[in-house]
Amino acid sequence: MPELLSLAEALKLVEAETSPLPAIVKPLADADGCVLAADVASDIDSPPHDKAMMDGMAIRTADGDAERRVIEDVFAGDVPTLAVTPGTATRIMTGAPMPDGADAVIPIEQIEVLSPEAVRPTGPIPKPGKHIMPRGEALTQGEVVLHAGRRIDASTVGVLAEVGADSVTITPRPRVGILATGAELVPAAQKPGPGQIRNSNGPMVAAAVNEAGGVPIELGCPSDEESQLRAAIESGRSADVLILSGGVSAGDRDLAPGVLAGLGVKKRLHKISLKPGKPLWFGVWPRPAGGRATLVFGLPGNPVSSYVCFQLVVRPALAALAGRGFVGLDTATAELESPLRHRGGRETYLPAIVTAGPNERLAVTPAPWKGSADLAGLSRSNALLRLPVEPAELAEGAEVTVFRLPRPLRARFRGATVVQFS
Ligand code: AMP
Ligand code: MG
Repeated sequence: MPELLSLAEALKLVEAETSPLPAIVKPLADADGCVLAADVASDIDSPPHDKAMMDGMAIRTADGDAERRVIEDVFAGDVPTLAVTPGTATRIMTGAPMPDGADAVIPIEQIEVLSPEAVRPTGPIPKPGKHIMPRGEALTQGEVVLHAGRRIDASTVGVLAEVGADSVTITPRPRVGILATGAELVPAAQKPGPGQIRNSNGPMVAAAVNEAGGVPIELGCPSDEESQLRAAIESGRSADVLILSGGVSAGDRDLAPGVLAGLGVKKRLHKISLKPGKPLWFGVWPRPAGGRATLVFGLPGNPVSSYVCFQLVVRPALAALAGRGFVGLDTATAELESPLRHRGGRETYLPAIVTAGPNERLAVTPAPWKGSADLAGLSRSNALLRLPVEPAELAEGAEVTVFRLPRPLRARFRGATVVQFS
């Protein structure tokens, strides 16, 4: 039997088929999570004026601690009309433009109000410039504030709004069609009958796609019948990526590879030296009229295998399409909390629990789980523990590589749609 491809070799084959999707212009409100495809320059100085940074009095420091006559009140949004001259001051609020002549702000707490028109500083007189943010200190007009390749998050959305970028040139999030195959599957809403199980992979992969920055499109659950499977796959033709779960092993009903070949999907790999996840399938589906091919992944049906293959192989592909480069899960080195015996044979990824160990090291222990159908066990883990192809007797404290699983603060299912097959 020929040797199976290693995970690293499989990743090379997948990476070779990935490149950023063509850039599009999107309203800023919809661009969160996307990657900028062009530099963004500021159309203004920020702040646009010398700006008071405290509520207080705009003063001339040269006047020392002498009493001042209040000549004007300036709130944020106002424009001062009078210059501060010797012996005068302007009452000013945070954010308001500084009046001419003033060179510092004294906070309200350090001011004694003698009458509505007269004030006196009570504390030390500040140095010139105190509590003033000069015009253009944060940004100047024409300056590139964000570079192409930057992922848009909350703070960058804020900057983009500040510099007037109400629409932005971005690499779009890849659209990912998801198909769960298997005659035994019923939807989550249904109680499984004899021989049936619920389709956990469809919703799970949709959530994983979302976490990875793609837009999931659930294409339903075709049976293991060839014509239905073909129709379901064809319904995902316009997607950037198509993910099938199930039907890629070697069973009689594992029709996916044959149906995909019949549709013109070019196989790039099938079966890799990975545990769990050996049956993984990957190919490209060229468009007869040219243009970008759809990438097609066939994930094993066992839910944990499906999940692991997604995280290790599909996730970096989605990142590359989204303009973030072919990057996978974060990795770290951790110390085993107890000895571990690895039989070897295939590169292995065990669901595991990583905690902060002593001496600022990470400690890791395999999560209790019952094999590749045990999603509940997987859900208790926060990492995958990597073991090599070779057998290994690992002692307590031995260093291993761990991959951090995405555990978002909130799950997002934005953009998911469901197409039903009867
Ligand atoms: P397969 O890869 O189709 O041979 O499936 C392997 C195992 O995974 C079988 O026990 C299936 O019942 C199970 N399985 C397949 N698809 C799903 C799914 N969508 N949700 C949960 N389990 C599944
Ligand atoms: Mg099946």
